[in-house]
Amino acid sequence: MESFLVSARKYRPATFNDVVGQPHVATTIKNAIRNNQLAQAFLFCGPRGVGKTTCARILAKTINCQHVTADIEPCNSCISCTSFNHHSSFNIYELDAASNNSVEDIRSLVEQTRYSPQAGQYKVYIIDEVHMLSNAAFNAFLKTLEEPPSYAIFILATTEKHKIIPTILSRCQIFDFHRIQPQDIVQQLKRIAQQEGISYEEEALHLISQKSDGALRDALSVFDLITTFTSGQGVTIQATLEHLHILDYTYYFKITDACLQYNPGAALLSYDEILKEGFDGQHFIAGLSEHFRNLMMSQDASTLPLLAVADDIKKQYQIQAARTSLSFLFRALHITNQCDLHYKNSANKRLHVEMALIELSHIQEPSQPVETIEHEHTRAPSNPLIPTPAAKPTPVTSHNKSIKTNSNESGGTTARTIQKVHTFKVTTKLPQIDQLKKSLGQKEETPCLQPTSGSTVEQLPITQQAVSQHWHAYASKLKSAGRMSEYSLLNQKIVLEGITIIVKLVNVVQQDILAGIKEDLMVYLRKALRCPALDLRGVMASLEKNVKPYTAQARFKYLTERYPDVCILQEKLSLEVQD
Ligand SMILES: [Zn+2]
Repeated sequence: MESFLVSARKYRPATFNDVVGQPHVATTIKNAIRNNQLAQAFLFCGPRGVGKTTCARILAKTINCQHVTADIEPCNSCISCTSFNHHSSFNIYELDAASNNSVEDIRSLVEQTRYSPQAGQYKVYIIDEVHMLSNAAFNAFLKTLEEPPSYAIFILATTEKHKIIPTILSRCQIFDFHRIQPQDIVQQLKRIAQQEGISYEEEALHLISQKSDGALRDALSVFDLITTFTSGQGVTIQATLEHLHILDYTYYFKITDACLQYNPGAALLSYDEILKEGFDGQHFIAGLSEHFRNLMMSQDASTLPLLAVADDIKKQYQIQAARTSLSFLFRALHITNQCDLHYKNSANKRLHVEMALIELSHIQEPSQPVETIEHEHTRAPSNPLIPTPAAKPTPVTSHNKSIKTNSNESGGTTARTIQKVHTFKVTTKLPQIDQLKKSLGQKEETPCLQPTSGSTVEQLPITQQAVSQHWHAYASKLKSAGRMSEYSLLNQKIVLEGITIIVKLVNVVQQDILAGIKEDLMVYLRKALRCPALDLRGVMASLEKNVKPYTAQARFKYLTERYPDVCILQEKLSLEVQD
């Protein structure tokens, strides 16, 4: 029992070379010792559990060692070293400022510095969590720090460097300790497990290292607890998941599969199981975000190393990532992030997460409406009223592409309108709308189509009224959720330009608010109006004034953008625009 209960202490590094993950610190200190340029005051900064105190102790031991190695390491066998290793050296004095932060505590430390060491060369004073010292204590210490006796070395350690006053900072040589890399922690755990003859599953060590967030000390104590807990069974994934209360990652793979297969039911059932296992909804959503993040990292070989998991799990990620598109992951991350942000404020937390799961399952609907929207590059030549002979059938573009084209300052809409104008110019007879549609390859008047039972495509008109109705319904939802700044932005009269909704913004704050809700809002509206290409544009009130149509063509364009019916009128009557 004792042998594996004390990993953190038993495997505390005895030399600089043993220190995990801080080579920059070790090298600099060694060079200073080698060149006899050792400072008298050091400040070790960095997160907890990454080796600050350990390095301070090795430093103290090394400068007092009687047989320092050529590599500037303590010999660990001389009297001084052994007394350090047995915690019986008188040349080291440790003060934990977190619990001893009074003037008296500092005074007694200062008092100590008056006596030169009885054996060895240096007395080393380590003040841990030095930012916790009271102001009075700081001041009492300052004078000693300014003029320390030649044999005294001060090592101040802190997790919060920004709280250290400049007078202290300027007197210390500063070392920044890094969070320890997950793979370094895994390697260290493996080494200990092998030395102690403890069996382990590789992924379990990865889980421990992830959970310890770069603190080796935490990882070691978790490792100890699990070995005790499993009493000889070794460090298994199952034991680790239970001990650390981590949700089994297979759930995330399952739920992502369900979302990709447009299967909200399966996702909801998995979530039910998760809740039954006693996991909290927000914990789950955060984990799911992490999962999507990992899938994103797995899509590219260059970001694959950012995945802190065992190799066989990495393969699983790569397999799922191959079935996932980047646009899905962007949307999915946005949805889980929003869910996480609003989790605390939601009255029905279970439903809140379930709604996110339903939304996730609808990102990739199996039958996206087929759209036939003009491409940017099919835009008519400089004079749009001069007919081009080949009014080709419109290429069928994909869902995503069409959205991109349209979000581009409503350029898509304009191009479409103009194309129509000159199509009519070349016809001599009054065209039959149906015939015309056929000749344009079922080109639509509004781009929003929905598949119906047969092969025919029924069009759903996007009217100002319909858009306004759903717009204000969404706004009311925000209001009842108490999201008042968002509500007040949406609670305004909107303008529809083709299939782009124009919202007036009065300042940059509103711009930010709009950016924050745009995606969710558009998912809602596109679905409600069955118009996947529906777009939204915020226009600064002051900027809008500058847009004034001067020429007849520009006015016509302006008019058709605001009132698409004008275009139908023009078609039916074969009207031309004259300059
Ligand atoms: Zn020694």
